[in-house]
Amino acid sequence: MSETIFSKIIRKEIPAEIVYEDDQCLAFKDVNPQAPIHVLIIPKKEIAKVADASSDDQNILGYLLLKAGEIAQDLGVKDAFRLVINNGENAGQTVFHLHVHLLAGRSFNWPPG
Ligand code: 5GP
Repeated sequence: MSETIFSKIIRKEIPAEIVYEDDQCLAFKDVNPQAPIHVLIIPKKEIAKVADASSDDQNILGYLLLKAGEIAQDLGVKDAFRLVINNGENAGQTVFHLHVHLLAGRSFNWPPG
């Protein structure tokens, strides 16, 4: 995959409001938040989208969800948050480095728009 702006954020070449980091993932505030809390959780490994993940990525995919729950707890919203992963342009994906949106702090409609 070609590199995205998220690789530059991982390397700290451009700033981001980081809320969590370890050797496998990085979580930072979305620059254009769609809810009072809007955090992006990304693997440090470059995977363009969920559909491009392989069986080698099984652990990191699960890890991202576990971390999402922990981050929601740290942010005080563990009882009400929404996770979104857009896969592909027609599903709303604009940055082709896999990311989980963690949204909280307002009510959400179902079905999503
Ligand atoms: P997507 O539309 O691909 O699911 O989500 C990409 C998200 O990345 C969008 O919500 C957008 O606001 C966010 N984003 C794009 N560029 C940057 C950036 O440079 N910094 C941060 N913090 N978020 C970004």
